[in-house]
Amino acid sequence: MLAVLLPILFLFPSAARAEAPTLELAVELDPATRRLAVRADLSPASRDFRFELHEALEVTAATADGKPVAVRPAERRGFIRTWQVALPPAAERLHLEYAGTLPALDRTLDHRDVVQGLSPVASAEGSFLPSGGGWYPRPAALFAYNVTLTMPGNQRALVAGRLKSEELAGHGSGHYRARFEFAQPADGIDLMAGPWVVREKMMPRASAEPVRLRTYFFRDLDAIPGLAEGYLDDSQRYLERYGKEIGTYPFTEFSVVASPLPTGFGMPTLTYLGADVLKLPFIRATSLGHEVLHNWWGNGVYVDFAQGNWSEGLTTFMADYAYKESESAEAAGAMRLGWLRDFAAVPAGDHQSLADFRSRTHGAAAAVGYGKAAMLFVMLRDTIGEEAFRSGIRAFWQTQNFRTASWSDLQAAFERASGRSLDAFFKQWINRAGGPAVRITAADARRTAEGARLTLAVEQNAPAYALHLPVQLVFPDRAEMRWIDVDKARQAVTLDVVAMPTGVRLDPELQVWRMLGQEQLPPILRQWVIARNPYLAQASAAPDVREASVALAQRLFEVSPHAIAPGEITKGSGPVLLAGLHADVDAALERAGLPPRPERLAGRGSAQVWTVAVPAGAPVAVISARDAESLRALLRPLPHYGAQSWLVFEGARLVERGVWPAPTPLIPVRAAP
Ligand SMILES: [Zn+2]
Repeated sequence: MLAVLLPILFLFPSAARAEAPTLELAVELDPATRRLAVRADLSPASRDFRFELHEALEVTAATADGKPVAVRPAERRGFIRTWQVALPPAAERLHLEYAGTLPALDRTLDHRDVVQGLSPVASAEGSFLPSGGGWYPRPAALFAYNVTLTMPGNQRALVAGRLKSEELAGHGSGHYRARFEFAQPADGIDLMAGPWVVREKMMPRASAEPVRLRTYFFRDLDAIPGLAEGYLDDSQRYLERYGKEIGTYPFTEFSVVASPLPTGFGMPTLTYLGADVLKLPFIRATSLGHEVLHNWWGNGVYVDFAQGNWSEGLTTFMADYAYKESESAEAAGAMRLGWLRDFAAVPAGDHQSLADFRSRTHGAAAAVGYGKAAMLFVMLRDTIGEEAFRSGIRAFWQTQNFRTASWSDLQAAFERASGRSLDAFFKQWINRAGGPAVRITAADARRTAEGARLTLAVEQNAPAYALHLPVQLVFPDRAEMRWIDVDKARQAVTLDVVAMPTGVRLDPELQVWRMLGQEQLPPILRQWVIARNPYLAQASAAPDVREASVALAQRLFEVSPHAIAPGEITKGSGPVLLAGLHADVDAALERAGLPPRPERLAGRGSAQVWTVAVPAGAPVAVISARDAESLRALLRPLPHYGAQSWLVFEGARLVERGVWPAPTPLIPVRAAP
């Protein structure tokens, strides 16, 4: 049963790994009555053992090596109660029994409530006992476990780990029982149960045990033609991809589990995703790969949270961003712009460093923990090269699997792989908040025998960052990319080129984390959402259209907008929303002298939304629809797309979205006589 682990253990023997204590749990859960009863066996590390249980659970029996011991409730924190037990000197094994009625599942919770709530919940439609919910006694920070789950026959249940056995006894009134083993040191146990239909596929592996792939879907989800099979096939594709890129998948199962709540969790050996989310077409192409990859980053190598969470950035880089790179250079560029755009929207006072990022609790944190951290890996790969980057990733996995690692362990792996110090690189990107505001202030060139010598004056705010920067040289007939290195607040950089360039652009493809200038920030809808002084212009006269437009404006803006005439839309002192039917909108744009409906949107969907930069005024956002009903259909979805510049809807369904490209200013080259 340890066949998969043996190669790892032989290659990297570790006392820390062997010492993890094992927790034995026998769990009985009846979701309909929400009754939970657990028998636990463990060897506490200390004689004076303290453990936490949810307030709904009462300890009913406790013995040490078969003899009764006293267990007392101690302090309480929120819904968590600490219990205390003093073990007799010679006793090894502690046996605990506890039971209670869990809180009911509240389907009105949103993802944030679920992430922050952490109370175990049960219901016949689905149960979730999260790792931090106090439903088991934790023997140590990291521990191995064996869990037997017993449920009514119409329910299925699982925890992360290897499925050792599974049985269904009797009919209807019978029970389902499954036994799971997690042999590696885990940092907690999440238990999920539901009235699921289970599908399975075995994924063969050349040099390791096969992986058991499963879907645990609700009946209606499972009935969608091809959906469960698609998840099984795509899970296999991702597991094979990352097995090759990083190192052998360290587990023998991977399951896609449907949640009645709008969650999105990646746990070892499984992902727990909201049933509604699982239906969305893009989940298999993006989120599934991201969650599969967390089996290596986060659940295979643990995060030392005290020193900053590196796993979201690395996972975003190797999943979400890598998929964009394989789609096209433009798609990858659009994602980098999105990161910088989101970051530019964060007020300077809210900037935090990567060392301070723990988890996605609010938008400002996500802009750093996901965007900046992913960009760090883009820059690192540009700095040390593709090959050293790949071997650094593999080395990090090999030395750190099932250990707790920090940014400095990543640094060490990439330093070994590249044979160079990356201290300055990691220090500035991990420890400093914000980013450099760097610009080329002048470009001068003089002719030489070989072509031309170009001198760039590069400036950034002090204290300066050490930057490896791409510069585009523009010639009359072509363009060429060169890299420069700067580390001072003001610096002259010379480049020898074969011909006289006419202009230069600094980092036009946005490959470096930095503060973009205003002119490089295409308007996105978030500017309307947070506007302090917004305007609404009605393009159409029909009362039902005007009514729908007012409702939409109230939903989009956080404050009530002023009315402005369609002819005055370029004169608003804050962001303007122009709403109406297609023909009326086209006429209003023409009257105002603004660019017409963008070609890529024209004729598509039942409603279109786009932003227009107004050269000498506040930006205008346009909502243009086929009819009043198509406008009303946007009420729910529209506020969710603040990061976008344009959207196409069919009814309430988003068909396409995007951010306008960011123009990089061209600095003309002054040619010396
Ligand atoms: Zn993630």
